[in-house]
Amino acid sequence: MNTLNHQEILIQVKDCKQAYPKENHSELVVLDDVNVTLKSGEIVGLLGRSGSGKSTLLRIISGLLTPTQGEVRWKDKLLSGPAEGIAMVFQSFALFPWLTVQDNVQLGLEAKGVHKKEREELAEDAIDLIGLGGYEKAYPKELSGGMRQRVGLARALVVHPDLLLMDEPFSALDVLTAENLRTDLIELWVEKKLPVKSILMVTHSIEEAVLMCDRILIFSSNPGRVAHEINVTFPHPRNRESVAFRQLVD
Ligand code: ADP
Ligand code: MG
Repeated sequence: MNTLNHQEILIQVKDCKQAYPKENHSELVVLDDVNVTLKSGEIVGLLGRSGSGKSTLLRIISGLLTPTQGEVRWKDKLLSGPAEGIAMVFQSFALFPWLTVQDNVQLGLEAKGVHKKEREELAEDAIDLIGLGGYEKAYPKELSGGMRQRVGLARALVVHPDLLLMDEPFSALDVLTAENLRTDLIELWVEKKLPVKSILMVTHSIEEAVLMCDRILIFSSNPGRVAHEINVTFPHPRNRESVAFRQLVD
C-alpha cells in the first residue's frame, strides 16, 4: 500500500512566487504563494485552467526555473538547478528525431557519466518495462504517438528517479491510446515495478486525476496557487480500474 505514515518528504515548495517580465516593464505574476509538499509513495495530480501556471510550477520543481520568490527544498536541501533524482516527461514527447529509441532513452544517463555497458543495460530494462521491447533500433518517426510517449517515459525512468514529473503526458494522444498507456502506468505503479518513489502529474482530466492520484491539487488562476486539495480515499479506484480496462481491451 502507498499509505504509510512515515513517508519521506521529497519536495517542499515554500511560498513560491513566479513573475515573468512583460514588454511594458510590468510583470505577469503567474504563481503566488504556492506551497506544495510531495512525499514518497504518492501520485499527486495538478489540475487547473490553461495558463494557471502548472507547467511553470513543474519547471520550478524540476530545477529548470528559479522562482522569483520563495524556495524549493529537494530532500531537505535547497534546489538550485536540475537535480539528480528528478525526471520529467513532456506533453510533446521532446524526442530527438535523429536518434534511435535506444539512444533517446540513453540520453537520460549520459550526463551522469554511466559507462556504456551499464547505460545499454539500463536503457534495455526501461524500454522493456514500458512495453517497447523490439523497438530499440527504431526512429521516433516510425512510431505511433503512444509509442513515442513510451520512449519519453523510458528516458525519464532510465535514471530511476525518485520523483517523476509529467506535464500532461497523455494529452497529445488519442483517447484509447491514452487510456492504454495510463492503464499500463497504473499497473506498474500498483505492482511496484516503476523505479520511482513519487509522481507529480499535470492533467486536464478530473477523471484521470481521480483514477491515478492519491491527492489532487486544484490550481486557481491569476495568479496560480493551490486553491483546493482533495484526497482520493481507499479503496483506490486505480486498483480495480486497471484490471477492468485490461479485460475490456485484451
Ligand atoms: P499552464 O501550464 O497552467 O497552462 P504555464 O505555466 O504554461 O501555464 O503559463 C502560465 C502563464 O505564464 C501563461 O500566461 C503563459 O503565457 C505565461 N508564461 C509561461 N512561460 C513564460 C515565459 N517564459 N515568459 C513569459 N510568460 C510566460
Ligand atoms: Mg502547461
